[in-house]
Amino acid sequence: MPAISEKYTWQEALSNLITDPKELLSLLELDANLLDPAIAASLAFPLKVPRAFLSRIEKGNSEDPLLKQILPLGVELDQAAGFEQDPLQEANVNPVPGLLHKYQGRVLVTLTSACAVHCRYCFRRHFPYTDNNPGMQGWEKIVDYIRKDNSIHEVILSGGDPLAVSDKLLGVFSDKLALIPHLKRLRLHTRLPVVLPERVTSEFINWITSVKLQTVMVIHANHPREINAEVTTAMLRLREAGVTLLNQSVLLRGVNDSAQTLIELSEVLFAAGVNPYYLHTLDKVQGSQHFDLPRERAHELQAEIAGFLPGYMVPRLVCEEPGKPAKTLL
Ligand SMILES: *Cc1c(COP(=O)(O)O)cnc(C)c1O
Ligand code: SF4
Repeated sequence: MPAISEKYTWQEALSNLITDPKELLSLLELDANLLDPAIAASLAFPLKVPRAFLSRIEKGNSEDPLLKQILPLGVELDQAAGFEQDPLQEANVNPVPGLLHKYQGRVLVTLTSACAVHCRYCFRRHFPYTDNNPGMQGWEKIVDYIRKDNSIHEVILSGGDPLAVSDKLLGVFSDKLALIPHLKRLRLHTRLPVVLPERVTSEFINWITSVKLQTVMVIHANHPREINAEVTTAMLRLREAGVTLLNQSVLLRGVNDSAQTLIELSEVLFAAGVNPYYLHTLDKVQGSQHFDLPRERAHELQAEIAGFLPGYMVPRLVCEEPGKPAKTLL
């Protein structure tokens, strides 16, 4: 296995992800008892993590908050009351494959089902991506839908991870959007710049600078240790390119359920030019029950961090309820 070097492109890194639980445990010097459950859970939702991300995880520590986000556990296979396959009932707001139109003025588009990392808490872990992966032929239908509804002002590219798509194809798609007069903004929801900051190449910066809409990038980081020097550099480059940078986190038991962690997260994000946007409570998807926290604890944490940080560094604590006109502010 060649070592990761500066010369490794992001495409190479993506085609060389860690997907074998045995390799993960061995590289991180973790207890072999974790192997059988990891294999069983990865059959339901595969393990996926970029190699370079492992350097941010402490070896031999099965409680590491970054590890917990990626390591498949046996508990994921338990059936827990109230945890469903499609907790957000997204199938109801899916007028054309690859497009969700749930909220006024904005549509969410999934250009790909691929992600660079599989987050164990992911609420899309059971989403029928293969049925909902538009492919390039499907793009015309998506663009038609947007063109015909002039109440839509913003297109949100979301997950899968839109940055798993090549710059060339992103360019093809954004060129189509540029011809729609009622569009104002293009937003990208992505975890790729966090887990694989080399994705933010000069070509990517050139593409995003060329987009004829205002651009917003919402990164998804949950713990301050995810924001290392490379991530910070990538963020500062994007900011220089005029991209509005926001972060969305999920409140996860054992990962970021302490005021100190959340305060530090806001601090490192803001220092990297990223404004905290949302702190989501967990969507109750089957297999994620071990990350859940009581609602009262979420309120307590929010109150605690608000007592320490300037208002603009406090993320909005929200949850998502099917059928509501916006995310619910808690
Ligand atoms: C969260 C979400 C959005 C964006 O909501 P904002 O409050 O604007 O961030 C849009 N569409 C769908 C389907 C969503 O789940
Ligand atoms: S990157 Fe996003 S869509 Fe992909 S697994 Fe993680 S949370 Fe889910």
